[in-house]
Amino acid sequence: MEINRTAVVKLSVPSNRRDDLKRTMNTFRDATQRFADRGWEGDDDGYVITSGNHLQRLVYDDIREDTALHADLCVGAANHAADVLTSVVEKMKDGERVSQPVFRSNTTVYNTNAITYFDGYCSLTAYGGSRIHAEYVYPTDSIQAEYLESDKWTKQGAKLRYDHQTDTYYLHVSVKQEREETSAEAENKTVLGVDRNVDGYLAVTSTGAFIGNADLLNHKRREYERRRARLQQQGTRSAHLTIQSIGDTFANWSEDFLHHASKELVKEAVSQGCTTIVFEELENIRERISNASKFQQWTFNELKRQVEYKANEEGITVETVHPAYTSQRCSETGCGFTHEDNRDGDEFVCQKCGKELHSDYNAARNIAHKFIQNRRKSGSGGATYHLALKSGTVNGNGDYSPSTV
Ligand SMILES: [Zn+2]
Repeated sequence: MEINRTAVVKLSVPSNRRDDLKRTMNTFRDATQRFADRGWEGDDDGYVITSGNHLQRLVYDDIREDTALHADLCVGAANHAADVLTSVVEKMKDGERVSQPVFRSNTTVYNTNAITYFDGYCSLTAYGGSRIHAEYVYPTDSIQAEYLESDKWTKQGAKLRYDHQTDTYYLHVSVKQEREETSAEAENKTVLGVDRNVDGYLAVTSTGAFIGNADLLNHKRREYERRRARLQQQGTRSAHLTIQSIGDTFANWSEDFLHHASKELVKEAVSQGCTTIVFEELENIRERISNASKFQQWTFNELKRQVEYKANEEGITVETVHPAYTSQRCSETGCGFTHEDNRDGDEFVCQKCGKELHSDYNAARNIAHKFIQNRRKSGSGGATYHLALKSGTVNGNGDYSPSTV
């Protein structure tokens, strides 16, 4: 069984190399666009080309010559374009409306030839073939540090993203781990706790998967509301029609966004051998999220609805627990100290045992824990429920068993 994760780490780029990195990113985007345009034109039979190799055969030489992009990055651009075209074709097959891909995002894809990982920093291939060294910026005990530093995880390619608002580069490194599944593990009912959020990550699991960019969702929502408000002021018939049209577009985009997030969540449950996914009850979630709007409530409901639908197909059940204290309790096995001072934004630091965790990850572990405790108290069945953690499982008695790696 292969477990895949993404380590997101902020990079410290030397100031004299920032322009090179930006230029590399822009050139990569132009090259990707050209590969995608060629793929969209189609092959001899008129089908959209979804193979990176095929795209390379057709236009690699031209694009390489025109852009002077490094060979490894040029190959990366072709594959990136092919990936996007593949997802477009999948949507077409599902009967969705699609349009020619346009690349606007600030992203560079580095395959394993174009990036080298070292302790504490990485080396990135730049525009003309020179290398840029950039240091990782993260707390030493973070999940990100473990993904990048532990021998348990194999580092693969990475995506470099530039956040315009904060003028910051983030590296998204794909890491993987091979894990053998024992029959005993399969027999146990393993519980995946899920914490839903209005900002940061939409959903965080008790296994340490961070899913869906809630900030992006909020940004799109605000954009849509601003446009709608402007059009409403005009009050003309054509403005009214435009309001309907942008409303449909936004609704489709949100559905699609949640479709991807729910797919990721169920995939996580399947890959960890979980038989139960546990959310917080939404009726009570407002205690924690005081400004939860109707839209955010819809988002949470819709995410759960889609997860239920997809989980059902995998034979996984979806349950809920009351959210009280899930964000204040220390999820460290054998601790459980609960205090409001434990949490400060994204950071959870137990005031008793000193355990430091991402707040949402800590909450997700508590959600799974609570479900298991509830089941034990009600004495249901004889089945043993295990809480799925990223490095092993904890049962209802608090006994910890490390995963077999
Ligand atoms: Zn503690």
